[in-house]
Amino acid sequence: MTLPPPVVPRLADDGETTSLLDWLRVVADQNVPETLQQAAVPVAWMGRTSTDDAQDPTLSLPRQLENSRNALPPGFVIVAKFYDVESGRNTVERRGTGTAHRQFDIPIPRDGGIADLLAEAKRPDRRFVAVVCESIERVARTTYFSTKIEYDLEQSGVALLAADEGIDPAAVPGAHESAAPFRKATPTLTRRIKQAISEWYVLNMLELSWGGTKAHTNQGFNIGKPPYGYLASRTRHPVKLKAEQGKVKHRLVPDPVRGPVVTQIFLWRALDRLGYQAIADRLNLDPDRYPPPDPILGQGRRRVGAWTASNVREILDNPKHTGYMVWNRRKRPRPERDIRGRVNPSSAWVWSAVPTHEPLVTREIFEAASAVARFRKGSRSGTGRQAKSRRTYLLRSYLRCDLCDRRTWGHTVKTNTYYRCSPDSKHHAHQQWYATHPAHVVVREDVIMEPLARFFQRRVFGDGRDHLLARSINERTGSDGDAARAAALTAEIAGLQQRQDNLVRELESFEPSGDDDFDRAWRSGLQARFRAILAEQRQKKEHQADLARQSRTRPVADLSLLEMIPQAHTDLGRLPEDRQRRVYDAFHLELRYNDLSGELDIRVTITGDTATELAATVKAATEQSSHLGTPGSTEPAPVRDDLVAEALRARGGTRTRTPRGSRF
Ligand SMILES: [Zn+2]
Repeated sequence: MTLPPPVVPRLADDGETTSLLDWLRVVADQNVPETLQQAAVPVAWMGRTSTDDAQDPTLSLPRQLENSRNALPPGFVIVAKFYDVESGRNTVERRGTGTAHRQFDIPIPRDGGIADLLAEAKRPDRRFVAVVCESIERVARTTYFSTKIEYDLEQSGVALLAADEGIDPAAVPGAHESAAPFRKATPTLTRRIKQAISEWYVLNMLELSWGGTKAHTNQGFNIGKPPYGYLASRTRHPVKLKAEQGKVKHRLVPDPVRGPVVTQIFLWRALDRLGYQAIADRLNLDPDRYPPPDPILGQGRRRVGAWTASNVREILDNPKHTGYMVWNRRKRPRPERDIRGRVNPSSAWVWSAVPTHEPLVTREIFEAASAVARFRKGSRSGTGRQAKSRRTYLLRSYLRCDLCDRRTWGHTVKTNTYYRCSPDSKHHAHQQWYATHPAHVVVREDVIMEPLARFFQRRVFGDGRDHLLARSINERTGSDGDAARAAALTAEIAGLQQRQDNLVRELESFEPSGDDDFDRAWRSGLQARFRAILAEQRQKKEHQADLARQSRTRPVADLSLLEMIPQAHTDLGRLPEDRQRRVYDAFHLELRYNDLSGELDIRVTITGDTATELAATVKAATEQSSHLGTPGSTEPAPVRDDLVAEALRARGGTRTRTPRGSRF
């Protein structure tokens, strides 16, 4: 700057005198240091190096500072420096709270991170009127976040400047006489485009790596620890460069010991409908045969050296056991972006197009095992922790209210157990059944137990069971059944066709009467009848198709399946609850209670797939009881190892037989 010529104090001619104090003041004013005296514009610098890219913060941050400083107009001075080493995709709340910068020796004094910058911007005694950065993507990678930070600064009266956009002093409120109180149009457009490009760049990278991982999945390569039951077999990396760097890919091969364990777990689940804990208990009886999994330690996981309900569940949930490679089952937790780790819905899973490794379970059994969770929902195995602390309701998972098809609730009054169904007008008023449903359907457990035990005794385990089943099958498929209905429909449709033909013939042979009004009325009357017949015919044909579909899907009864179930003379009601449940689960027991008619519908299902396992389960459950001396059992009690061995021995052949249903 240029100083004005010094004012020399002197005695005025007119005799006036300047005091010494005045003179000192003038001299002091003329010698103020330059930076203090001039109206300098104080700015804060903001820098960021991403943890995502392979950048060196010790080089990148000084470069950003230098570029920012060079772009500042004369009179603008950097008075504070804020920077972070973190991802530009973190949420605003999480920004500037990291400590990654401490790992580097960055030669820039640090006033804080972006959080500190934003906090100071709000304070009245802030040291700056504008913030400068190298480019807008240094603020954030996500447009939403960078515009939010820009907006927050603006609300405090602080301008956000970017070196690569060129800095106009007029953009800083109060720093220039031409500064307008709002952002300028064209620079804002430029900035928004840059933000969009920056966001596109990130998303494009993600897309490319997603596509790469998909391809990797399709080729059957495994990421991460191989699932229980498999071993990772190293293969040469298909990319030559990566192979030369010593990188390998992994394929899954069955573990000779653990592979069969997985198969067994799926069978117990899908066919016996065992709970997770019940399966774990069985496995723990023989740790040599069923070695427990080694968890990936950390994050609350520890080695327990035994099977637990949760590691059984993990195996049942893992679709890789079907021989397909599946990816994107879980979302990786990213606490810095407020993203919690979770299991993705199965619709988001990426399956390889074809099987890529040897399956330990078929896809059908896998699906069946997943469906068991829905079936068992609300029921507990008697061995869990909850079961000890709470009363168990033996029939709850099997007993439905026939009026509304909803599962009943168990409750206890004194020592009696009841099952009830109480619809809620708020949720069910729109349902068809609501009007006729009593406010409360309540049925006592022993009222159900008595016929249920009798049913098993006579129709499942009893001497005359095959006759009883054959008779009920005949009753159901008798001549007055579906066949008769189908025949009647065919006749009705033929009749309608005949009437239609007659009408057409009448129209064809029509001769005008000469009276136009009469002719018109006659014709339109014929047409209306024709339409009505056509509609009726269409409805009947749909009905016919439904009937045909039903009889096609109805399983063919196979009496021989029942013969595979051992005869027993045990009163099921006297077995311990967990063993009763095992039998009910194995038979896919369904109970429907109709409060209006007082009827109880009892249904059990034996299929070709389940019969062998079922027989073993029944034998084990009932024999053990006779071994214990349950009254009512007349069978000799053979010496038995344990339940598990029995269930296992029966496995052969269950998967090769075509499933055929036998319901009664
Ligand atoms: Zn109901």
